[in-house]
Amino acid sequence: MNYLRCKCGAAEYFESGMPPQPCQGCSECGTTYAYAPDGHKPLIPHDPKPQFDRNTGEPDGGICKRCFRRIKRVQSEAA
Ligand SMILES: [Zn+2]
Ligand SMILES: [Zn+2]
Repeated sequence: MNYLRCKCGAAEYFESGMPPQPCQGCSECGTTYAYAPDGHKPLIPHDPKPQFDRNTGEPDGGICKRCFRRIKRVQSEAA
């Protein structure tokens, strides 16, 4: 098992099979997880694949194509 950290050290990641994706990292310092202190790269946005509610067919957020993280539904209307 490999142990990775973000640049500021606030976020940690234990690699167990799947390596961290460039969209996974720390929201504090905005860097990805890396093995070495100089290996950090700027976080890139998730790339969600739209999901739809099984019953209503309504858009229901998405799942990131890279890290498979569930992304909450984005509010389309401006507040
Ligand atoms: Zn950080
Ligand atoms: Zn992602």
